[in-house]
Amino acid sequence: MAIKVAVIGGGVAGLCAARYLCAKSPDVFQAVVYEQSDQIGGTWVYTDTVGKDNYGQPVHSSMYRRLRTNLPKELMMYPGLPIMEGGKTSFIKHEEVLQYLNRYAATYDLHKCIQLRTRVEFVKPIVSCHKTTWEVTVRNVEDPDATPQVLEFDAVMVCNGQFAVPNYPVIPGLETFKGKVIHSHEYRHPEDFKGQSVVVLGGGLSGCDISVDLHSYVNKIYLSHHNSNLTRTVLPSNLKQVPDVALIEEGRFVFADGQRVEADSLILSTGYLYDFPFLAPECEVVVDRKRISPLYKHVLHTKFTSLSFMGMVWSICPFHVISSQVRFAMAVLDGTVTLPSTADMNSDSQRDYEYRRNELKFPHHYAHKLGPMQFHYNKELLQMAKVDEDDDAVKPIFEELYHKTHDLRLEDMANYKTHIFELSDDLKSWEMK
Ligand SMILES: Cc1cc2nc3c(=O)[nH]c(=O)nc-3n(C[C@H](O)[C@H](O)[C@H](O)COP(=O)(O)OP(=O)(O)OC[C@H]3O[C@@H](n4cnc5c(N)ncnc54)[C@H](O)[C@@H]3O)c2cc1C
Repeated sequence: MAIKVAVIGGGVAGLCAARYLCAKSPDVFQAVVYEQSDQIGGTWVYTDTVGKDNYGQPVHSSMYRRLRTNLPKELMMYPGLPIMEGGKTSFIKHEEVLQYLNRYAATYDLHKCIQLRTRVEFVKPIVSCHKTTWEVTVRNVEDPDATPQVLEFDAVMVCNGQFAVPNYPVIPGLETFKGKVIHSHEYRHPEDFKGQSVVVLGGGLSGCDISVDLHSYVNKIYLSHHNSNLTRTVLPSNLKQVPDVALIEEGRFVFADGQRVEADSLILSTGYLYDFPFLAPECEVVVDRKRISPLYKHVLHTKFTSLSFMGMVWSICPFHVISSQVRFAMAVLDGTVTLPSTADMNSDSQRDYEYRRNELKFPHHYAHKLGPMQFHYNKELLQMAKVDEDDDAVKPIFEELYHKTHDLRLEDMANYKTHIFELSDDLKSWEMK
């Protein structure tokens, strides 16, 4: 009997799941990808709209009009399909990434298993003595009055993204600020801030990227952060780095070192929250401030191993990591991987968490951060899944490129995207122009 898999979301992760599931004989896997919007691509589907979409759902995409990728496109290729979009450029436009995703779907004929405008509303385990299956409730978003469909699957792959639900910080006195306040999720055009003084709160990639996008339009940027790496990078000349916002007093920003400034707008680049509104309590998934439990290898539910989460790790090259996660989860489903016991998987994930906290001195919210660990992680998952050792996801060239990009960013945050990489055809060497 084929293993029936429901995939939630048609972005990078959902398409990757579809590609590997569809490549297997329909006697082995049968997949349906449910995508709530009217096209595939997830966050790469740019829209000018903020707030609600055409179907009354929160806008999913966090892209802004002039965004170029923060990784070179060479690190944004699914295994097996080179990315040509964007010509010679390496740091390409968001619409070029979307073109690549559409080409991926066309190349592997994925539309046959994708159901657009279909939102997954509810997922619940059906537990019997020998097997757990999944009740999945889906609804056509065009017709909110239509009766939802209740279906049964053997497995569920959650691919709903992690950059759509803003994390809002608590700022004492924010109510006294009369200017505009937005989250980076809603940032679209620098023109909206023309001539202004803007406080950008958060020194992660979004905060820096948005500051660079804004700088030629605004009068002054105060980039408020505690990222020690930024003190030595090149940033726009009208940008001043300031510590965290301590409070807002009578409409004026007070930073942790006591400096006070007036500003017209505040852009919160304070990250995102994991959100799985469709998971019933019976799924026993706990999200504790950016830690999802109980997950084995950041992917598999340790009790219900037919429930998996793709792309919840961060600070990664998503295309490679997700392609490793998908193949690992499939190998568990088809019996290629024999998993440890639930207790041993729980101990493994607790050990991973404690290693992060005690050895790496990571804060709690770095529970799923990978960074340089992603390369070992890909190897480990693919080895367990018994995938060919020469897979693109584990080629040393990509690890080298990742480190090079990281260094270029650290040196010059304002200009690193002008670099161009060229890879040799055998994917063994690269050059930077
Ligand atoms: C501003 C920004 C810049 C980025 N830059 C880069 C970059 O340069 N390079 C890079 O590699 N990555 C970048 N990323 C990371 C990016 O998130 C990944 O590349 C990739 O898009 C992750 O894909 P995903 O499928 O996990 O999530 P998403 O792209 O978010 O897709 C999730 C999909 O699930 C659908 N969905 C959600 N809930 C439901 C439901 N209940 N039912 C049905 N469908 C549902 C959504 O509509 C969406 O289509 C960036 C992210 C952001 C926000």
